[in-house]
Amino acid sequence: MVGPRCYHPTMEQPVIALVGRPNVGKSTLFNKLTRTRDALVADFPGLTRDRQYGVGRMGPAPYVLVDTGGLGEPDDVTYHHMQRQAMRALDEADVILFLVDARTGVTPGDETLTRELRQRGKRVWLVMNKIDGVDPAMAAADFHALGLDTPWPIAAVHGRGIQQLMTAVLEDHCPALIAAAEAVEAADADAEEAPDRPIEVAIVGRPNVGKSTLVNRLIGEERLLVYDMPGTTRDAIHVPFERDGQAFTLVDTAGVRRRSRVKASIEKFSVVKTLQAIEAAQVVIMVLDARQEISEQDAHLIGHVIEAGRGLVLAVNKWDGLETGARDRIRRELDVKLGFLDFARPRFISALHGTGVGRLLEEVAQVYRAAHKTLPTPQLNRILAEATEAHQPPLIRGRRIKLRYAHQGGRNPPAIIVHGNQTTALPSAYRRYLVNRFRRELGLWGTPIRLELRTGE
Ligand code: GDP
Ligand code: GDP
Repeated sequence: MVGPRCYHPTMEQPVIALVGRPNVGKSTLFNKLTRTRDALVADFPGLTRDRQYGVGRMGPAPYVLVDTGGLGEPDDVTYHHMQRQAMRALDEADVILFLVDARTGVTPGDETLTRELRQRGKRVWLVMNKIDGVDPAMAAADFHALGLDTPWPIAAVHGRGIQQLMTAVLEDHCPALIAAAEAVEAADADAEEAPDRPIEVAIVGRPNVGKSTLVNRLIGEERLLVYDMPGTTRDAIHVPFERDGQAFTLVDTAGVRRRSRVKASIEKFSVVKTLQAIEAAQVVIMVLDARQEISEQDAHLIGHVIEAGRGLVLAVNKWDGLETGARDRIRRELDVKLGFLDFARPRFISALHGTGVGRLLEEVAQVYRAAHKTLPTPQLNRILAEATEAHQPPLIRGRRIKLRYAHQGGRNPPAIIVHGNQTTALPSAYRRYLVNRFRRELGLWGTPIRLELRTGE
């Protein structure tokens, strides 16, 4: 099953779907793998609420995880509806993890699902969950009746067997993936400010906010035609362009794809493609529509960009012809709903007329440079000393938390490692204070900063 996406490990991550009856432990496994409870729920128009999307990592190799939601037992009235939804998610998947419950043994629902999955001809891994407190060998024997491979035993809730399972799945799906991802990560870590290297940009946002219009504005119609080739729908697309001497590469955007199939102009928003684009990019342009309310999904998408450690540029589009009242409204809304985003300033643009688009790209380049900046150790230590002097860390059981010295731990996103005593007890408000201080002094705008605290030496 070595597919084309193996050749571009940073471009399109494998999509792994979790299926199984309700209560077998899909969401428990999902949360363990994505380490988040704030999953992207696909309640964008045209999609269902039942599915959850997230990004998991095996070392540096990311993959997109889809929890298909519960598939009812066959006599359940909602079965057929839910099944259709879940099956649609399976069409997007490269690999299917079929979860069963070691404690209940084979059920009629498992059998129905097995038949459904067989018809789809995709690689199915049978995963037997909840092996804690049961005899795995005996439980496995029961599932042989399904006629699938030997089940992989796991206990999702305790994290048992998960690492082994995911290693096997990813290595089987694409043996080169992990090595290639490591190579890319190493190259990224080494990359100093390199203005001649193309900056990889993704444009994301909800449907109709103006992504395609912006893509056209950036690369022009005639260049788009070059990419308007059949057979490119599944493969990741890289579109190079240049602005003021700076080279950019547009990664995997729905906008590019849509134009290649003019008739399918109402292509559905795909959470999977959005997550893949965020992973593949160095800087993400998140597009909002000034004529629509900022939604929870917008905030979630931004949260994902931050979690992925990508640089972020916020473009508020359709600014043309807006009344002052409407402009004030969106400004207030940005403050209220995206207040957590304190490191990226919104840019007001009109993709249609091109207003503000040049500035937007300048900002992309600035954010890229900030994310790759070298942070000299003496400077970091000076900032740390000034910060702790201006505002001491608190006492913990009578002893003051000490933050002694700092150095850079990585780039893209910038990582700062701070050594001290009792650092695990440092309150999150103080962490935020430190991050803000480093950001301000070092000019690290537009990029998340990873602050790592270490105790000892
Ligand atoms: P889903 O409906 O398939 O998403 O299942 P959930 O993840 O909601 O899990 C259903 C129940 O099974 C919850 O009460 C979980 O705590 C429990 N559960 C999940 N994984 C395990 C496991 O490995 N061992 C045990 N004993 N319980 C588990
Ligand atoms: P996408 O779904 O995010 O790719 O959105 P499109 O690029 O297809 O744009 C959706 C609609 O918004 C189209 O009718 C565009 O013409 C319109 N649109 C896009 N950008 C602008 C803009 O800057 N100003 C105005 N007034 N309309 C825009």
